[in-house]
Amino acid sequence: MQTIEHLINGERVAGDGRKAPVFNPSTGEVSGEVCLADAATLQHAIQSARAAYPAWRNTPPARRAQVLFRFKQLLEENLETIAGLISAEHGKTVEDALGEVKRGIENVEYAAGAPELLKGEYTRNVGPAIDAWSDFQPVGVVAGITPFNFPAMVPLWMYPLAIACGNTFILKPSERDPSSTLFIAGLFQRAGLPKGVLNVVNGDKEAVDGLIAHPDVKALSFVGSTPIAEYIYAEGTRRGKRVQALGGAKNHAVLMPDADLDNAVNALMGAAYGSCGERCMAISVAVCVGDAIADALVEKLAPQIAALKIGPGTSRGLDMGPLVTSAARERVLGYIDAGIAAGAELKVDGRGYEVDGHRNGYFVGGTLFDRVTPEMSIYTDEIFGPVLCVVRANSLEDALRLINDHEYGNGTCIFTRDGEAARQFCDEVEVGMVGVNVPLPVPVAYHSFGGWKRSLFGDLHAYGPDGVRFYTRRKAITQRWPQRENREAAQYAFPSQR
Ligand code: NAD
Repeated sequence: MQTIEHLINGERVAGDGRKAPVFNPSTGEVSGEVCLADAATLQHAIQSARAAYPAWRNTPPARRAQVLFRFKQLLEENLETIAGLISAEHGKTVEDALGEVKRGIENVEYAAGAPELLKGEYTRNVGPAIDAWSDFQPVGVVAGITPFNFPAMVPLWMYPLAIACGNTFILKPSERDPSSTLFIAGLFQRAGLPKGVLNVVNGDKEAVDGLIAHPDVKALSFVGSTPIAEYIYAEGTRRGKRVQALGGAKNHAVLMPDADLDNAVNALMGAAYGSCGERCMAISVAVCVGDAIADALVEKLAPQIAALKIGPGTSRGLDMGPLVTSAARERVLGYIDAGIAAGAELKVDGRGYEVDGHRNGYFVGGTLFDRVTPEMSIYTDEIFGPVLCVVRANSLEDALRLINDHEYGNGTCIFTRDGEAARQFCDEVEVGMVGVNVPLPVPVAYHSFGGWKRSLFGDLHAYGPDGVRFYTRRKAITQRWPQRENREAAQYAFPSQR
């Protein structure tokens, strides 16, 4: 059985902390043991990042970018290996894992534009012979804490950009599927990243709390569930740190009566059941405006859901793998039971789903509920599994009210042929990322990603232009070189343009 260590100062180290099992979700077997960082291991990582900071901060951005270019190349050369590692511990299909890594590479490409991204703002002659400029300087040692569901892509949202901006980084990936994350960090070292610039510590709450409390960690990027996001935001900002904490979601798709139904059905199949619903942008609610489109949608979806090809994610050609852990499976099954008890109509039942030869895998079949109402827990809570709820609304205004009243505001989309309805939806919906006939509107790397309401705590979105602002501090410099002829007398009034 493999031992999954930490990566500190360019070396793999085990430390003396506790260990936790990592499972193969397709079989339920233990596939490895991950070392959990204790206080001494964490201190080692923070010291390494701190020691590497002065030289890295002063490395010209173009030289930093060169390392990112080599990193991108190594990622592309190792795509299949990375996808295999993701699939083996997370359970998502290899094809889906490949997609995740490719989206992550886009963030590396963006970060490789560091020389352009870090150009400051300059004004000559803001006063007589006075020039002013804004400089974007790194923050220092930054920590990133990431969820299980995108073990490659979400860390790649964070550290390539933070490092391109001149920071050094400590990544604490999910303890449930750390192998691909660690492998990718090793590729960055191979690309020529100086030791200590990127450190990976595995761990759980103990490691996270250590990062929050340590005075040398100046900023925290978090992605995970809302209760933990809220906790990290509160604890980090209380200590004067910069914190960006992205949380959970309940993403609604609105189907207008004029929607292209076949297109919407295909889009919903992928958006609701891809990655077994374990995506923060997964669509888990379809809001149908009018009974006619609701009936037609359920009729078309049900047979396709029942026909989903489900099996071990590492096999090719499947639609869906297992859930990540047996606890996740139990949780999803609990919500299906709760939906039935609350009176929702169960149209496709994913309980009791078995895959030949994988009886102990954490499989749940695709599940569809109709006539779900807003007080049901299957509607209010993030289930994070292959469960789609159909809610019926009378009008676009009703649909908007429903979405805007929900505590989460990560992603949403509308299916329609009506430009006016789409425009009203984009304008009035209180959600951070909106799709028009696009079910998973995950912004590309040169925009920024983030939800509203309890889906994001902090002022800036992740990656892209907002990421550059998050990982840098503005410094405004005003400069004059006095000459004998323009030397001013003492001024006691506040200097102004007069
Ligand atoms: P999680 O909140 O359980 O874990 C996220 C990270 O926090 C992990 O590294 C974990 O070790 C750490 N952690 C767990 N419990 C902690 C505690 N008590 N104190 C401190 N740290 C703790 O989330 P998850 O189950 O790994 O991921 C799924 C969740 O992440 C879903 O809610 C999903 O919506 C969300 N997510 C959000 C986005 C987004 O961009 N908004 C993206 C991906 C995932």
